Amino acid sequence: METTENTATAINPGTPATFTAADALAAFGPEFLDAGFCQDWVLRRLHPAGVFCPGCGAAIEGDNRLQRFWNGLRLTCPACGKFFTALTGTFLARSQQSFTELVLLAFLLEAGFSNTETARLVRNHPNTVRMWRLKFETLKEVESLIHAH
Ligand SMILES: [Zn+2]
Repeated sequence: METTENTATAINPGTPATFTAADALAAFGPEFLDAGFCQDWVLRRLHPAGVFCPGCGAAIEGDNRLQRFWNGLRLTCPACGKFFTALTGTFLARSQQSFTELVLLAFLLEAGFSNTETARLVRNHPNTVRMWRLKFETLKEVESLIHAH
């Protein structure tokens, strides 16, 4: 079997390659984001005034408890004994998304990406993306109502 000379094989394998912006977008996904930074950003947005028990409202103190809270781990309220995490009672309470997926999802939806393209980049089903789009649109309406008064 005869083969034709491929120009690519003539290039030294040690020669540095390039990539296009389209390559970067095609490969992009939540794994490109820093998980710790995303988690911290989301949790600080959810709890701007600090840490309070979602059951009795007691302020949570103590390095161990606060560390567990900001790390997304479960803790108990010393006042009422309720078990909770930083997501308990928030709009992300039953979310199956990682923090990087959530941040990327919000970013892509706001940037005008379609549900299909967002689903591909976040590695989710388009129906899941559709649900998040509705959720974020509802939150946007609530925010505008709050700021209108
Ligand atoms: Zn409590």
